[in-house]
Amino acid sequence: MLHKVSLGVRDISKYRLLLAGELIDELERLAAELKGVRICHINSTPFGGGVAELLSSYIPLVRDLGLDIDWQVIYGDRRFFSITKSIHNALQGGDGRFIRGEETQRGYKSQSLLNAQEMDRNYDVFIVNDPQPAALPHFSDEAQAKWIWRCHVDSSEPNEEAWQFLRPYIEEFDAAVFTMSKFVPPDLMGPRIATMPPAIDPFSSKNMPLPRTLCRELLQNLGLDPKRPLIIQVSRFDQWKDPFGVIRVHRMVRQEVPGLQLALVGSLAGDDPESMDMYAAIHREVDKDKDIYVFSNLTGVGNMEVNVFQTACDVAIQKSIREGFGLVVSEALWKQTAMVAGNAGGIPLQMSGKLSQYLISSEEECAEKVLYLLQHPDIAAELGQEGKEHIRQNFLMPRLIKDELSLIKSLLQD
Ligand code: UDP
Repeated sequence: MLHKVSLGVRDISKYRLLLAGELIDELERLAAELKGVRICHINSTPFGGGVAELLSSYIPLVRDLGLDIDWQVIYGDRRFFSITKSIHNALQGGDGRFIRGEETQRGYKSQSLLNAQEMDRNYDVFIVNDPQPAALPHFSDEAQAKWIWRCHVDSSEPNEEAWQFLRPYIEEFDAAVFTMSKFVPPDLMGPRIATMPPAIDPFSSKNMPLPRTLCRELLQNLGLDPKRPLIIQVSRFDQWKDPFGVIRVHRMVRQEVPGLQLALVGSLAGDDPESMDMYAAIHREVDKDKDIYVFSNLTGVGNMEVNVFQTACDVAIQKSIREGFGLVVSEALWKQTAMVAGNAGGIPLQMSGKLSQYLISSEEECAEKVLYLLQHPDIAAELGQEGKEHIRQNFLMPRLIKDELSLIKSLLQD
């Protein structure tokens, strides 16, 4: 059997403190209409990366609404996840030639068949996240359930070969969900299309309010100097997150701000075999640099520590070149931390108004904006406040729950 992630229940009524009560009332009504419907999310890793983050907050809240919802994780060996990581990269515009290989295609299909045989099919609705499990409906003989494909990557300019390999599988779904309408490949025919951006949980240990002074002190426990300025990037170790670009930005800004510290806080996800090589390469690059620190889940940096970094730093960077959404942007803004981020994918959704002046397209521009914010903490604080309000209005869990349950309701009515 596929692994089911063990999660509890989290009180959704707490959101009444942050959001209009009508929204929570509406969720309760929707959930009452869906009472008895069994829902299951499927993805490829229980930890590391945005999807795992999202599901671990989302599912306990939906359970509190009285719904029956679970999370199953597919399995595979290093070879399978190398293939799926290449598909992920190619969907974001990377090289897609690998998919021509007969053995590659066979590897993807045979593992998908095994996963389809091993999954618990006792559900009415399956929500399949990203390309790794995308062939499950094809290989499963579950014809009664509704199948939703949830794409979390920026698929606006996919590599053609990789997309044409994946497309027939996606077309077997009842619905396909994207973060933005511009991510929908134009030749995708068949599934109902919906768009909904992800969201964060402000009550999780990653996002709950912590006093900034305490967080600055905690930096010392992590080996940093709380008296010196700090910039951070929190990301999987992944080419699209451009960690080497962040290191170069730090070195540019440090010329003007001596002693500036950089923390690269990264996770190594179970479905991402490239991340270990990237992690090692980053270490080689920065190990002799006394102002740069590398942290990861391998060294015990978890949700609470990410919260500490995002709360305590002076400026957060997310220098993505391609980005599906970038939960870390919402996470940092929620803590009123000023953000400088790549003008890519779903990031601009989170940085509207004045915040959009800090969307960047080059290392030089990134360095210039980071320096400006370090030199103008009053403006950084203003942006942080504006950011928090924007996230409150648009990117908290109840909105996502409403979007997803509404889609499920309408599919079940078909
Ligand atoms: N994350 C974490 N520890 C780390 C690095 C990242 O917990 O060391 C989390 C981060 O806080 C966020 C998620 O991983 O919740 C990354 O999601 P995002 O959407 O930004 O990027 P993705 O990994 O999905 O591409």
